[in-house]
Amino acid sequence: MQLRADLASTPELVEFRDELRAWLDRHLTEEFKAEPLADPTGSEGEAFECRRAWQRVLHDGGWVGVHWPEEYGGRGATLAEYAVFLVTCGEAGAPEPVNQIGLNMVGPTLIGHGTPAQQALLPEILSAGTIWCQLFSEPEAGSDLGALRTRARRQADGRWVVSGQKVWTSLGPVADLGLLLARTGDAPTGFRGLSCFVVDMHAPGVTVRGLRQMGGQTHFSEVFLDDVVLPADALIGPQDDGWSVATDTLGHERTTAILSRHASTAHAASALLGLAGRAGVRPPDRDRAVSDWIAAQLFRLNGYRGVAAAVRSAGGSGVSPDATASPAAWTQRMQWGLLNRRLFETAALLRGADAMVDDDEPWGTLLLASRGWTIGGGTTEVQRNMLGEKILGLPREPKPPV
Ligand SMILES: Cc1cc2nc3c(=O)[nH]c(=O)nc-3n(C[C@H](O)[C@H](O)[C@H](O)COP(=O)(O)OP(=O)(O)OC[C@H]3O[C@@H](n4cnc5c(N)ncnc54)[C@H](O)[C@@H]3O)c2cc1C
Repeated sequence: MQLRADLASTPELVEFRDELRAWLDRHLTEEFKAEPLADPTGSEGEAFECRRAWQRVLHDGGWVGVHWPEEYGGRGATLAEYAVFLVTCGEAGAPEPVNQIGLNMVGPTLIGHGTPAQQALLPEILSAGTIWCQLFSEPEAGSDLGALRTRARRQADGRWVVSGQKVWTSLGPVADLGLLLARTGDAPTGFRGLSCFVVDMHAPGVTVRGLRQMGGQTHFSEVFLDDVVLPADALIGPQDDGWSVATDTLGHERTTAILSRHASTAHAASALLGLAGRAGVRPPDRDRAVSDWIAAQLFRLNGYRGVAAAVRSAGGSGVSPDATASPAAWTQRMQWGLLNRRLFETAALLRGADAMVDDDEPWGTLLLASRGWTIGGGTTEVQRNMLGEKILGLPREPKPPV
């Protein structure tokens, strides 16, 4: 399938886009319009509540979970339609719905692996009734999740008792439920013997401590789990084979979830071009801004290439991470992190010290936040390893002897 630069390449996609545009004209009122330069990962304050309210409006209109199958409350859209949805919302100035981890990662994971009781949690993800977080990383286990130590022990009555610590938990301070990866097997390390669970973030024994970031926000947290009791049916997928569930979740994080970042990147790139056009900018700095803007266009086009490849290879299902396993899709996560960091560094170069103090143009805050975007969801170095091994077929990275 050939996708045009505006994605609207077939009569079906044009019809889909026009229906959405008409709906947005009626429902995207000024109060919801996103700041063109907003942090898309924020989880605090008025902006967060505005995004929660916006998700409810989208939900009432049947526009949440666009890429989920209809039987799970989604719209059953193809991946191409989902991409059109994100681009059109971004062009109209809509903010991102608030439940990003729930919609892009947990929901598809529960659809693929959850029990009927766990799938009964899906409607609340769509309506933003429950906010989800992802409890994978630990102080000694980030890039290498095989080192994680949080342990879940099965009791005689079938319930589980969990103890351990998680860290860098995005949305932790506001989350109601968490997708937990914990050790259930005997081996102290490794990917065998891990299991996935649903955790009630308000249960006794769960302590969430917000982590203040260098930009001043508290978007993520440490989570302490002290003898937290989980019901027997909290287990997602097979006991001791939670890694197969978690790799699906991580696949969604690397691929479909990143599509939702295209709008904020486009806004940042055009705002940067605006900065470069101001009087007094040195020609070499202007050149750098233009080349960053071009890189943002390449990021967009590469994203569409990934979508087109997925539509060709898998009938366009938006939920399966396999559907986005093309080389173009694989590079998107890394490109997004590096590109945004570069855009905000260039903005700081153009604005000088004012970038750090001007509240109307939060370039400085975004510059500080963008450092983390080259780490979360897998660091740039680890993404490069994966690209080398999975896409280029290079020899696997040597592992230290056990
Ligand atoms: C903004 C943000 C949001 C996050 N949100 C969440 C969340 O919601 N849930 C969650 O569970 N986690 C979350 N994380 C954690 C994130 O997944 C980890 O920080 C990341 O996987 C890196 O792990 P680490 O911090 O332990 O660093 P380490 O793994 O200790 O890495 C340290 C350094 O070593 C390098 N390195 C490590 N291994 C290799 C290798 N094999 N080859 C080459 N270089 C290597 C890394 O690139 C890095 O530079 C978030 C992190 C950030 C920054």
